[in-house]
Amino acid sequence: MFELKTLTDYSDESLLAEMRRVASEFKGHRLTRQEFDSLSRVHSTTLSRRFGSWADALDRAGISAELAPRVRLQVTRDVLLEEIRAYAEEFGGSPKLDDIAERLDVHPSTIQRKFGKWTALLKEVGLQPVPLGRRYTDEECFENIVELWTHYGRQPSFHELNCAPSRVGSKAYLRWGGWRAALRAFISYVNQSPPVSQSEIRTTAEPLQPSTNFSRPPPASESRSMGLALRYRVLCRDRFRCQICGRSPAKDIGVELHVDHIIPWSKGGQNTEENLRALCFDCNLGKGAKHESL
Ligand SMILES: [Zn+2]
Repeated sequence: MFELKTLTDYSDESLLAEMRRVASEFKGHRLTRQEFDSLSRVHSTTLSRRFGSWADALDRAGISAELAPRVRLQVTRDVLLEEIRAYAEEFGGSPKLDDIAERLDVHPSTIQRKFGKWTALLKEVGLQPVPLGRRYTDEECFENIVELWTHYGRQPSFHELNCAPSRVGSKAYLRWGGWRAALRAFISYVNQSPPVSQSEIRTTAEPLQPSTNFSRPPPASESRSMGLALRYRVLCRDRFRCQICGRSPAKDIGVELHVDHIIPWSKGGQNTEENLRALCFDCNLGKGAKHESL
């Protein structure tokens, strides 16, 4: 009988019906995934994706126990650890429990029940217990962009994310959909942050108490992000060069740029672009206690 190799309807019910049809031909046999794919009009990968995993798909179709006893690699501790290593090598990061469960065709809870805590398993193969691509916050990704921009004196390239001095690899930026999109997100972040955050404005009416003269007010939760945007704007305005000696990290190896208060914070100087400038480490030190670094 002639049969189309594709389904006309891809609803859950239609997919499950197709699974049952294939399984019924294998009554009494052990149905492997390869055998299934050779007969089915829907690939097992599609089914895994739709229902969470291959095992879940079999469960949903009600054919996991009698009609299609699962035939799979016996998942031992060694098999599991090897799979984690292989994944890390392929994707350059720690896998999530669900990723490995899917690859081994077992339920995530089975792995945890048999082999213990996921984080402990990752540590066993020398991986950090963090999900792929989420090791860094958005803020840390942007911070890295500022550092690279300062280092090269220009917009960093995608390739440069994966070389020193970059601390955040290119994969982390895929959350924005790509490097160009990440740069656009960064620029809009920098532009949207107000020139001076409310937390950083000092009320001039309030006299400085001797006890608070040399310490800053406790930073508000958003003050650090304001600091990053402000720092980038000042560095950009100063063309990533020291405003005293003119050296830049891009041209002079070993030069470190800082953003410095012209009138020190302790003397009432504010976190405004007018009161900030780029200085190299040496020039910054040379001024002694007259100024302080941001
Ligand atoms: Zn300098």
